[in-house]
Amino acid sequence: MKMLVFFVAIILYYSCATNPYKSSNKSYKKQTKDFAKMLSQYPIRDSVSNASYFVASTNFNLRKPNLVILHHTAQNSCDETLKTFTTTKTQVSAHYVICKDGTVHHMLSDYLRAWQAGVSKWGNATDINSISIGIEIDNNGFEPFTDPQINSLLQLLDRLKRAYNIPTANFLGHADIAPGRKVDPNKYFPWQKLAENGFGFWYDTTGIQIPSGFDEMKALRIIGYDLKNPDAVIQSFKLHFVQSDSTKTINDDDKKILVDLMKKYQ
Ligand SMILES: [Zn+2]
Repeated sequence: MKMLVFFVAIILYYSCATNPYKSSNKSYKKQTKDFAKMLSQYPIRDSVSNASYFVASTNFNLRKPNLVILHHTAQNSCDETLKTFTTTKTQVSAHYVICKDGTVHHMLSDYLRAWQAGVSKWGNATDINSISIGIEIDNNGFEPFTDPQINSLLQLLDRLKRAYNIPTANFLGHADIAPGRKVDPNKYFPWQKLAENGFGFWYDTTGIQIPSGFDEMKALRIIGYDLKNPDAVIQSFKLHFVQSDSTKTINDDDKKILVDLMKKYQ
């Protein structure tokens, strides 16, 4: 019996000692405990200073994510990315990382705010980190995504969409919300396949006529794009919807796509 306890102790010691993420796991627990403590503070500390009374309501729950932002890691392996997201000095993270073999790493509770979107805008929302789930897909930025990756992604998106009632329009790429600053996920990302599964919209230009006086920039704005840099926004639009074309010009075919898309996204 003593011998058994000894061996179990040895196994436990080595399994902990060899876990490369032991210290970040510990830090996660501590940080979430600190947030729990902050949330349970009473009187409420974040209210306006001129509030005379504190009356706790009985009716609430946690805020839920309403957007999903997809990324490619622009790194060479999943291990490299896990290391990046567990190192304090990088100041970046995501809720999920999907490796080439389809393995999904869950790094943060869906209720926590990951640091993945950075300076970004969609519609009139600017603090995208506060309202979104970030999913990083292992990819160096210049290669196609693997089938196991996309299968795992579709399963994950299905769970997220149902759990948080995320609208079909709100599955976006990092490039969509940060034109000119970000170009991920790359042009090989299967947006059409995602749309066919209910994550984002796709277009059908059959029978579409371009209305006279059609303004493509207005259409891009209606879809949700930030127009601050017009060339960049066209690049982001093409990366998502016209992946074979890397130019920054809008031709008549693109206009037809926009006419159809703006009806779906508006
Ligand atoms: Zn990104």
